[in-house]
Amino acid sequence: MSHLRTQFPFFRQHPELVYFDSAATAQVPQTVVDAITDYYIRAKVNVHRSGYRLASQLTDRFEQVRSDVATYINAPSARQIVFTYGTTDGFNLLAQALSSRLKAGDEIILTEAEHHANLVPWQQLAHKLGLVLRWIPVDKHGAIQWQQLDSLLSQRTRLVCFAHASNTLGAYAPIKTLVAKIHAVGALCIVDGAQAIAHCQVDVQAMDCDAYLFSGHKLYGPTGVGVLYAREGLLDDAAVYRSGGEMVQQVAKSHSEFQPMPLKYEAGTPNISAVLGLGAAIAWCRDNLTDAIFAHEQQIYRDLRQGLSARAGIELVGEDTDGVPLILFKSAQLHPQDLALALDAQNICVRTGKHCAMVLHDALHSDGLVRLSVAAYNNRQDVERFFSALDRALTIEDDDMALPTAQLPELDELRSAKGWENKYRQIMLLGKQLPKIPTEQQSPDSLIEGCESPVYLLAAERSGRWQFQADSPSKIIRGLLMVILLPLQQQPREAINEFDVDAYLHELGVAHFLSQSRQNGLRAVIERLKTLSGLS
Ligand SMILES: *Cc1c(COP(=O)(O)O)cnc(C)c1O
Repeated sequence: MSHLRTQFPFFRQHPELVYFDSAATAQVPQTVVDAITDYYIRAKVNVHRSGYRLASQLTDRFEQVRSDVATYINAPSARQIVFTYGTTDGFNLLAQALSSRLKAGDEIILTEAEHHANLVPWQQLAHKLGLVLRWIPVDKHGAIQWQQLDSLLSQRTRLVCFAHASNTLGAYAPIKTLVAKIHAVGALCIVDGAQAIAHCQVDVQAMDCDAYLFSGHKLYGPTGVGVLYAREGLLDDAAVYRSGGEMVQQVAKSHSEFQPMPLKYEAGTPNISAVLGLGAAIAWCRDNLTDAIFAHEQQIYRDLRQGLSARAGIELVGEDTDGVPLILFKSAQLHPQDLALALDAQNICVRTGKHCAMVLHDALHSDGLVRLSVAAYNNRQDVERFFSALDRALTIEDDDMALPTAQLPELDELRSAKGWENKYRQIMLLGKQLPKIPTEQQSPDSLIEGCESPVYLLAAERSGRWQFQADSPSKIIRGLLMVILLPLQQQPREAINEFDVDAYLHELGVAHFLSQSRQNGLRAVIERLKTLSGLS
């Protein structure tokens, strides 16, 4: 295993990091980096156009990747492999291509667990054409209720689209059983393979699905390239997606004739270096992703689950499956944003939030969870470092609780604190002094959009001076609210209007530790304060 990890330059650059976010994007082996740089250094010419040797050799290499992808997923031929810019792009392509076969009243079945990539394009199409979306529900334990498919399928069903494994729940869909039922009513089965492709052997013929989609960057490859496998004949007469050069055979002023599959769907110059990088990634997967490696990932998954379930106050969400190795959990003590931040301060990379699956979080009644996702290069040491960081994050919190609230750390202490860990501590201490807004006053009116977690804000004026109150379920956000509210309390409207939050955070030395989305959230709060104080 250690031999495998040393092939990834990212871990040489960051020996301090524990990377448990491979479901968002996986790291790439050196061979992928080499394939990309080799293109720019040795062969930066276009494909499918020019006839000189360098260009035709490159076209051959490009087309070889198509064949290698076909072999990797056992597609009958390379004709059925379309290079996209990623899974999302592939779904947009399919929605557009299949639109010519759909009419008002036709039905598309999805599950509540779908990634937005396999949801929003269908929703858009439904709005445009008057289609009906039907949903296979997820129960509160995170189990997709596949048995409900039977009652949803009908003569009106045209498409059934679901993930081979979701990016939050992990379990593999029982594809063969589902496909048989779907085909029995004459509908098409479209499978989102973005997660599963990196964790199991995919055989599209054995699955018998009509389309299978994935992204290069989750399969140890580069960003900006993906694959759409389409069953023979599926897209031959389908509508075109992007149009322009490359995808045409004949162009006259009034009419154009298109290339056959797959070039019909590859308008313009493709992402050549990424396709070559994908070729290197596929070769790496073929040589390295053995059953032993998949078993190793499962072992890491088991160790993480076991360690988490042994800790008081940690709740695992979702079923225990032998699907793709990802784990969702939350802590009774810390809001997911706070936990992720405390882990980040200790060099542990995890995902928090709603994981591009908001419909699912609604079904689970969840306002955000922490996700750990495992890949081939993770090891025992990652697990140990994760748990010592987690324990530290949870105990630091306990110590802080014991601090007498009379000790009021001033903004000066925040300003002079060195490094993120110290600043973070000061911000958390400040957050403790922010009075809570009672639940009954947390009305939609007081809620601010654009923040990572809910922020409630109230304002009142007394003899020309303003008093603000703010609250959030996230402790770090409460701390930051305290930081930005302190200089504005008891100020007249003019002072509030002149307040420059960016300059202020910069001066405190915290701006560059905050993500863009968090800074945007704070800006939204200040904008609201300005509006509230300006309105009266
Ligand atoms: C990541 C992911 C997508 C979207 O992939 P992009 O590379 O962002 O286009 C779709 N579905 C699932 C299950 C995913 O995990």
